[in-house]
Amino acid sequence: MSYIAVVGAGIIGVTIAFELQRRGRNVVLIDKDAPGMGASYGNMASIAVTEFMPASRPSIWSQMPKWLIDPEGPVRIRPSYLPKLAPWFLRFLEASRPARVRELEAAGAVLCRRVYEDLDVLLENTSLTHMLSPEGCLSLYAGEAEFKADRAHIEVLERFGFRYEVLVGNAIRDLEPALATKISRAVLFPDNRSVADPYRLVVALAEKFQALGGRIETGEVVGFEEGDGSVTAVRLKDGRRIPAAGTVLCAGAYTGRLSGLLGEPIPLETERGYHTQIMSPGVSMRHSIIWPARAFMVTPTAGGIRVGGTVEMAGLDAPADYRRAKVLVKRAKEALPDLRVDDASEWMGHRPALPDTVPVIGPSAKHRGIFYATGHGHLGLTYAATTARLIGDLVMGVEPPIDLKPYRVNRF
Ligand SMILES: Cc1cc2nc3c(=O)[nH]c(=O)nc-3n(C[C@H](O)[C@H](O)[C@H](O)COP(=O)(O)OP(=O)(O)OC[C@H]3O[C@@H](n4cnc5c(N)ncnc54)[C@H](O)[C@@H]3O)c2cc1C
Repeated sequence: MSYIAVVGAGIIGVTIAFELQRRGRNVVLIDKDAPGMGASYGNMASIAVTEFMPASRPSIWSQMPKWLIDPEGPVRIRPSYLPKLAPWFLRFLEASRPARVRELEAAGAVLCRRVYEDLDVLLENTSLTHMLSPEGCLSLYAGEAEFKADRAHIEVLERFGFRYEVLVGNAIRDLEPALATKISRAVLFPDNRSVADPYRLVVALAEKFQALGGRIETGEVVGFEEGDGSVTAVRLKDGRRIPAAGTVLCAGAYTGRLSGLLGEPIPLETERGYHTQIMSPGVSMRHSIIWPARAFMVTPTAGGIRVGGTVEMAGLDAPADYRRAKVLVKRAKEALPDLRVDDASEWMGHRPALPDTVPVIGPSAKHRGIFYATGHGHLGLTYAATTARLIGDLVMGVEPPIDLKPYRVNRF
């Protein structure tokens, strides 16, 4: 039997594996751990269709010096990691040219516009529609100055036709009574819905994949075998080899290590993020909230609320620094004064981050039968169904519904 190997069982990998199996291919999904234990375990659960703007945009640059000197700021670079980060950072700089920012905004918007078209089909096909909340996300502002500072974001959304609604004063607390009165303005993004538990979603998709006959193998991929110009098998650390007629590499922040083995470097970094899961928060919420000036997010999840965010550049191997999670909770209490944090757990995950923010979705430029789906950064959950649809088309030899040039692997 000829197999397609999907390497990495995060939200991207399980969704691709399900989609390919559904479309009639025999798929083997390979992960060194159980499905969903990477970044997809603890993300903020948001289908964040309004957050596609590149991180290299001017409004981020202008705040960067202030953020970097503040130990509690939303972006932290560990000094010892700076030399390793330099090549990625130079590409990040390159992605900040105004003309390039416009292109990257358009590339992100094209994906975000498709999100529900693909996600609704995925959730219907897997009978998991109940995992998606109907409520949107509120962006919070303590006063006019904060609101004005976020104007560029709203302007981009207007340009690409995304929905939003401005709320003032008590109209905000009519929607979320637990919010502090200092929140005098808010913007409701009705299409930024959330899932009840992103980890459970991965597990449920993996189960649906298996129910269709899909195979899961536990093992770390350490190499590839080639013959006749294409990759014919995947090699595992324990010595096993898994023959494959095609291979999709979607190992999150680790995909760069695998593409490196194939002589196809991808400038992938990890933007480490943190969450605190609070099981008895003492406040109840229907919408998720973000507070741009304080750079945190709170999402109501199955059995509690989750507080998270932040970007820490320190590589894949450095231990977690949970002070960053605690800062986020401190800030969340400014928005939710009655928030209690007695019954809580902390977590750190590796966002797979490319210097130009847009993911890589497409075939290898060097090897027949290799496909990449990685670098989804802050939007892997958001983009998962769309990525699976596009990779599904490529593997099946069908013309994808959008031009995949902006997402090509050899654009750097
Ligand atoms: C704090 C935080 C909040 C976030 N919030 C959101 C949000 O609200 N909305 C959103 O859309 N996104 C969010 N994200 C981003 C999102 O979580 C990621 O983009 C997404 O999980 C990436 O999925 P993935 O499948 O590519 O990677 P992962 O989930 O990391 O999966 C990669 C898998 O590959 C496996 N692997 C790695 N190397 C190998 C190997 N050599 N052999 C075998 N297996 C291997 C790993 O074990 C892992 O299971 C957030 C991220 C963080 C950290």
